[in-house]
Amino acid sequence: MEASTPIPAPEASTGKKKQIRRLEPDRSQRVRLIVQSVFILLNIFLCAQFYFFVRYFETGQSGPHVSRPAGVDGWLPIAGLMNTRYFIATGHVPAIHPAAMVLFLVFVVMSLVMKRAFCSWLCPIGTLSEYLWKLGRKLLGRNIVLPRWLDLGLRGIKYLLLAFFVFIVGGMTAAALEDFMMQPYGVLADVKMLHFFLRMSTTAMVIVVVLMLLSVVIKNFWCRYMCPYGALMSLVSAFSPVRIRRDAEACIDCGKCAKACPQTLPVNKLVVVRSVECTACMECVASCGTQNALQLSLPPQKAATAAERWRQRVVSPVAAAILLVVIFLGGVGAARLTHHWQTVVDDQVYREMIPQLDTLSHPGF
Ligand code: SF4
Ligand code: SF4
Repeated sequence: MEASTPIPAPEASTGKKKQIRRLEPDRSQRVRLIVQSVFILLNIFLCAQFYFFVRYFETGQSGPHVSRPAGVDGWLPIAGLMNTRYFIATGHVPAIHPAAMVLFLVFVVMSLVMKRAFCSWLCPIGTLSEYLWKLGRKLLGRNIVLPRWLDLGLRGIKYLLLAFFVFIVGGMTAAALEDFMMQPYGVLADVKMLHFFLRMSTTAMVIVVVLMLLSVVIKNFWCRYMCPYGALMSLVSAFSPVRIRRDAEACIDCGKCAKACPQTLPVNKLVVVRSVECTACMECVASCGTQNALQLSLPPQKAATAAERWRQRVVSPVAAAILLVVIFLGGVGAARLTHHWQTVVDDQVYREMIPQLDTLSHPGF
């Protein structure tokens, strides 16, 4: 998964190239922060609205009554996987948590187009992870880099978790999937998720705190080692045409890009970053002070001259942000227009089931 194109050795070792300084300041991190902030605010808004929706039924219909925001289905990736499997098996969009499937597919398409940009531009957990390790770097002066053998071994965990879920869900028939989703536990999976955060058990709290502490000292601990969603995005991103590309002629081999990379990729030694761990965060690009040395770009055009080949197809930070937002809004908009966004459940069902939620047991697979 780490296949990358090394630069010719003689050029890398001279170290005497004259630097042509960047003509314009890099804006990638500012643009990314704007996108991250918008999606954090969107998630806060959705969670608050969903909280009031649930509280209304928990308190015997007192307080404000708001509609259920379908976007909270984004927090149900396993429902997204199950519904996608159901859709593949039957050709029908499921009635329960269709938005989980829509968002699941939107994020897969994003990874196909823009590598794992979902992780570093949109995902609230990814954003939290990023600011935790940045806090760790500020407090401790540095982050811990694990030895390669341990790093590689731990990275396998997220793929094993993904394989487990794919194996389980892939082995279910359409009837079993439908049955699971139509049961109270399936319908109220979102409420269960809310309760997980609001009524966290001591064990869950200890695990969350340990993961957060690990994320302070090790860059992106959760995303890099544990997240099966990230594993899926990694695998899909292998087919993305967009990659970080380095012009070995312009590059002065200062190594700043490799130091800046949160995924500890040896960017300064590569011509094309092919690693599936790359999240298209553009931190490497932002760290590079040399004009046209490092860019996020599409494959070079064959017809262009050698010097201009890859520069012509640069994906600017603004273009990247627009692309991500267009894919997101396009997917959500299409689902809304075709009435495949809202869960089709009457309020009466929530009225009866939410107060009894604690008595429901997991139906199992
Ligand atoms: S190679 Fe660049 S874009 Fe990819 S993860 Fe590293 S810093 Fe981010
Ligand atoms: S930051 Fe990386 S790409 Fe830019 S000049 Fe230094 S080594 Fe080359």
